[in-house]
Parts: sequence; C-alpha cells; structure tokens
Amino acid sequence: MKIGVLAVQGAFIEHERIIKALGADCVEIRQKADLEGIDGIILPGGESTVQGKLLRKLDMLDTLKEMIANGLPTLATCAGFILLSEKIENDDTVHIGTMPVTIKRNAYGRQISSFTTTGSLTGLNDIPMVFIRAPFVENVEDGVEVLSEIDGHIVAAQYKNQIGLSFHPELTKDYRIHQMFIDLVKQQKRHAA
Ligand code: GLN
Repeated sequence: MKIGVLAVQGAFIEHERIIKALGADCVEIRQKADLEGIDGIILPGGESTVQGKLLRKLDMLDTLKEMIANGLPTLATCAGFILLSEKIENDDTVHIGTMPVTIKRNAYGRQISSFTTTGSLTGLNDIPMVFIRAPFVENVEDGVEVLSEIDGHIVAAQYKNQIGLSFHPELTKDYRIHQMFIDLVKQQKRHAA
C-alpha cells in the first residue's frame, strides 16, 4: 500500500513521518508522474492559493481531480480541505472541487491565528485539534457526512472517499486519524481487488 503526500507546499513532512510510523509506504508527490500507482493521497495544510497555482503550473490539477473523483481515498487538512471544496465562500477560485461543501477560508478571523482544542470525530474521542488560520464548513450538500463540530462549526466532513479536516492532526502525537485513513485505503484496496 502506497500513500502519496502532496509535497508542493506546506506541512507535508509531518504527514509523511506519521504514515511511515504507522507502517505504510509513503511517496512525495511533486510532479504528475508521482501520482502513478498510489492507493491514497494526503493534501496537507499550507496556503491554498499557492498550492492551487502550483498544481496548475505543474499540470497536475486535472489528473488529481479525476483520480479523486474516481475514488482515490483522500485525507485533506486545512488548506488541503479548501482545495477539495466545491465552493469557497470568500474566494472565487475553485481548485480540485470534488467535495460538495461550501468552505470559508480564515473563518476564525485573521486575529485568531491559532488555537488548540480537543473534540470528537465520529467514534474517536479526545482528539487534539490544532487550528492555524483555519477554515470551517458553512454548508454541506447531500451525501456529505459531518464528522466533527466545534462550537457549532463543522470542522471535519466526509464525502465518499474524501475526508476533509479544518485542523492539523499531523502536528500532534495522536495518530488515530491517520490510522483511520490507512484503514479506509486498505478497505478500498480490498474492494478493488
Ligand atoms: N489560511 C490558509 C488558506 O486559506 C490555510 C491555513 C492552513 O492550512 N493552516 O489556505
């Protein structure tokens, strides 16, 4: 099983470290050719506008979009979640756009640049959640499951094979979300076999 981590910008190294610690193979996605043969992909946090521009410049956007729309398991954190969203409330540019949600960038305001809390995510309790200039989801369409809400705001959602998180699980020592993603990838692989 091989998990790709988009490595054009942002906090990708931390995800790689966790995926390897959990015993899965990990490959950095820096160009289109790197997408070949991966069983899942992680879209890290960082700056969504920069990541979107780089994906276009590297001619990866359409291929990536197609792979995700066709079922490639995807874990997207923060800026990655913005890339996945079909609508961005305060930005006209849609990037990958495969998840039918409306997201708001820098939703906690620019002043509250960062905060940490704990919350539940489906069956997992006491998950540490690090928010950094984070988005939250304003609206979900049919078929999207809300996985977590903090203070009345949706901060995690799943649509088919795609999981989006407003926060950064890779900046904590709690690997349960990455394990959940690896299990999803395994399950998908078994179905495909
Ligand atoms: N504020 C960033 C954006 O809009 C996301 C921040 C993050 O990924 N931590 O893209």
